[in-house]
Amino acid sequence: MRVVFLGPPGAGKGTQARLLHERFGLAQISTGDILRENLARGTELGKQAEGYMQRGQLVPDDLVIKMIEQELRRVSGGFVMDGFPRTVPQAEALDALLTRRGTPLGAAVLFKIDRPSLVARLSARWTNPRTGRTYNALTNPPKVAGIDDEDGGELIQREDDRSETVEKRLEVYERQTRPLVSYYRKAGKLVEIEAIASMHDVAERIAAALGREHARQ
Ligand code: AMP
Repeated sequence: MRVVFLGPPGAGKGTQARLLHERFGLAQISTGDILRENLARGTELGKQAEGYMQRGQLVPDDLVIKMIEQELRRVSGGFVMDGFPRTVPQAEALDALLTRRGTPLGAAVLFKIDRPSLVARLSARWTNPRTGRTYNALTNPPKVAGIDDEDGGELIQREDDRSETVEKRLEVYERQTRPLVSYYRKAGKLVEIEAIASMHDVAERIAAALGREHARQ
């Protein structure tokens, strides 16, 4: 199965992508995680992306598309992308890439969630900067506050999860990413999921919807 996750920041895309990876062995491709890793390592790409990320803006399409091309070279089977595509040119580039490989996209899953819930989720989000794993202080807390259950390392609040940048990221989503909903609807690939529910329930909804899509194709 080849899937992209669509939806505003804080909708639960990263968490659900990790669950799909664990449950079905799909490769998880998170452009946000890859960019943060490049920033931490001080690579050329990291340096080019840093300012945009701090301001809550999108990194330019050409940089992100090149990055995805490289990632896809390492993936031979199914994948789930979370955080890509975020613009129409990115979606077109992905389609072109996958068509060249003869492995078209199966579905684009849209996470539906209201704005107050997003802001609440993002301000309660704690992230492991080494692995990208996230917790929510209210709905999915770690066993020990501030510590990752898995590797025992420290959790942090992402700088761009603070309130001013959150507003900016939501605005960017509405303006630049929302048009992808009609892009994938026209292509007959859009699957809509109500994303306000427990992590487990959302995972079940996604698995059921993807199962139906798979059977249809
Ligand atoms: P995320 O972790 O997905 O919220 O991404 C964090 C930040 O990385 C975003 O606010 C953007 O600055 C950048 N970013 C991640 N994915 C993309 C993308 N597909 N296109 C452009 N910028 C991106």
